[in-house]
Amino acid sequence: MGQPISRRLFLALGASVVVAACSTDDGGRSEPGPDSGPDTAAPTTTTTLPPVDFTGYPFTLGVASGDPNESSVIIWTRLAPDPLNGGGLGDLDYDVRWEIASDPEFTDILGSGDTTASSRYGHSVHAEISPPTGSPAYYRFRIAEHTSPVGVTRLTPAAGSTDPVRIATASCQNYTDGFYTAYDDMVAAAPDLVVFLGDYIYEGGVGTLDETTVRLHNSDEIKDLVAYRDRYALYKSDPLLQAAHAMCPWIVTWDDHEVENNYAGLTPQDAADTVGYAARRAAAYQAWWEHMPVRLDPPVDESLAIYRQVTWGGLINMLVLDGRQYRDDQACGDAVLQLSPACDEAAVAERSMLGAEQEAWVAENAASDAIWTVLANQTVMTDIRVGAAILNYDQWDGYAPSRDRILDSIAATGATNLVVVTGDIHLAGVGQLTTTAEPTTSRGVEFVTTSISSSGNIDASTESLLIALPNIIDAEVAHRGYTLHTISADTWTADYRIVDNALVEGSAVTTWKTFTVKAGSVAVTIG
Ligand code: FE
Ligand code: CA
Repeated sequence: MGQPISRRLFLALGASVVVAACSTDDGGRSEPGPDSGPDTAAPTTTTTLPPVDFTGYPFTLGVASGDPNESSVIIWTRLAPDPLNGGGLGDLDYDVRWEIASDPEFTDILGSGDTTASSRYGHSVHAEISPPTGSPAYYRFRIAEHTSPVGVTRLTPAAGSTDPVRIATASCQNYTDGFYTAYDDMVAAAPDLVVFLGDYIYEGGVGTLDETTVRLHNSDEIKDLVAYRDRYALYKSDPLLQAAHAMCPWIVTWDDHEVENNYAGLTPQDAADTVGYAARRAAAYQAWWEHMPVRLDPPVDESLAIYRQVTWGGLINMLVLDGRQYRDDQACGDAVLQLSPACDEAAVAERSMLGAEQEAWVAENAASDAIWTVLANQTVMTDIRVGAAILNYDQWDGYAPSRDRILDSIAATGATNLVVVTGDIHLAGVGQLTTTAEPTTSRGVEFVTTSISSSGNIDASTESLLIALPNIIDAEVAHRGYTLHTISADTWTADYRIVDNALVEGSAVTTWKTFTVKAGSVAVTIG
């Protein structure tokens, strides 16, 4: 990732040492050097960068940061002067300067370095930076005369810290189905961290403008690398999404639409798509990596391991799951909303949502001293089977033995206060987590965030039926939005922010309901 010498230099100097960017008269890329002290009156932009051979502003897709830990965080951008047409750059690689500062005007530059934007990976930039702990850091990128927007990021708190944290969860942002008003409200709320739970893009074709389609996709269904890149560029052209990325670090996982609806492993939704599907998935995974601020090496083949652990001081041990890449194919022909049991396949013990390796990883990493044990998860985990009938074979109900193993293995570690945060289903919901063997014993709470913009899948008339299911504590199917979680040592509070009408720009955002869980209890209080 980038030029190792510059990063090592900066890391070796340590986050507490102020590193002033130095002027160079020759236009070269000299590295910053240690300065005499923190009170140097350094000018804001102090390096001259070499000219480049492209025209046009390259930072059209904004900036982002993500995957913070105690000592570093990843910052991201992509050079794309012509973002909707492959990016607009050729086969050359470019060096991009990054700078971090303690203030948004960059009067106090804390460090800088160069990272290569390679043609191989769409001229995306992933740089690891080490700002000071405990305060926000400002970052930007520069190339030639161009400077990116400024982003704000932060490290996780020191080990053991139980200071409260505010985390927004979001998912499902179909560009055609609505505006990103939810992100406008999220930026105003200014959480410390965003956890994105999948369906960042949708793969479908152009669409037709009508009452429920307010914006168009930029191509037919996407199937190759350039098409996936151009789709990410379309979504990231939205200024509200860019603002949300610039606001704070994100933890991102994926669901199905980053590749194709309801795919499972290397099995596409439609058998007709099987030929060439591995290459298509590889292209989709690569484009996802190129556009996300993730602490992951780029993919080298058709697979990309993204499940990972994020700890937030002594407060949270979060396991970020991948419920798509390793799952068995949906049972019973991927049935949806069938009230009569279609077949017995879903109950086969060997079937897995996460694959054996990831299931074992959960069992190994759930144990921690953190107060809250969190799964960042794709599809609904709450058991909403009606007798033997499964309402949605794509959810954990279609993989019940796998869910039982996960919940039992977490319980066996002694991990406390299980909270699962989930997206996928385009509705707001709260559920209690149970196993097949102990269907009335709650193991923890699931907070299902509604979609940012993707249209609701479930008719409003079925809302009361959902709420009547024994494990569903509450549900609201009609609105788009996100969930703002305020987490302290003794309380988890989830504010469900909903957009009045995501089909209209600038629509009002209000709180649907607030749900509270006390540490040490699985009871949910509705406010
Ligand atoms: Fe979705
Ligand atoms: Ca989905």
